[in-house]
Amino acid sequence: MSDQLLNDIHSALASARSQFEYLQDLGLDGLPRPDAQNIGNCVQSLESLHETLDAVRADLGDCQRCDLGSTRTELVYGVGNPNASLVLVGEAPGREEDQKGEPFVGEAGRLLDRILQAMGMRRDDVYICNVLKCRPPNNRDPEPEEVAICEAFLIRQIAAIKPQVIIGLGRFAVHSLLKTKIPISRIRGEWQSYQGIPLMPTYHPAYLLRNPEGKRDVWEDMKEVMRRLQNEGSK
Ligand code: URA
Repeated sequence: MSDQLLNDIHSALASARSQFEYLQDLGLDGLPRPDAQNIGNCVQSLESLHETLDAVRADLGDCQRCDLGSTRTELVYGVGNPNASLVLVGEAPGREEDQKGEPFVGEAGRLLDRILQAMGMRRDDVYICNVLKCRPPNNRDPEPEEVAICEAFLIRQIAAIKPQVIIGLGRFAVHSLLKTKIPISRIRGEWQSYQGIPLMPTYHPAYLLRNPEGKRDVWEDMKEVMRRLQNEGSK
């Protein structure tokens, strides 16, 4: 067996162990059971998917797969370029997003727009979405079951776009995507992988509104993202 294959097996096992520990930590005693009727097409890998963003949206429909369906105003699917090379993933819609049906339209969203502008991009150049499509009442933390159900659709969105880079915005999105509990302050700025796509964890814009000193770190992370996008573009 080659060293490369051994390394791949080793890192796949380490990643599976970390995901299992993460679920145990959250109080789940096993992996959520896929239910074709409940969560649509359950997804194992990005390569196996050949859907459009519109098809995934149509499958979501008037989603009532978890309790958030009955408390939300608007389902917040995602916005931007369906062929974006950069996807940004936040936590869940807040009050304004729930009203408008669009992610990151509140104060944190305006800061996100400024960050994108500093990177030489506009909202229309990238794709923006959240781990959860519906607002948790009073902005409470999402429940593990809600994440498990909604993530099946996030994976399909990402598979439809096939971005070169993903940015995980904030602790919650990063922990949900990577199935880890490593503090965001330790993991930010370090490249990770989500289903084989390079993922840059960084602070959430709402955190930056409360802690403006974090903006310097986020800018370092964004420069790293721009470098990566440039390199990918020149391949
Ligand atoms: N915070 C998020 O994580 N997502 C939004 O869409 C808005 C605020």
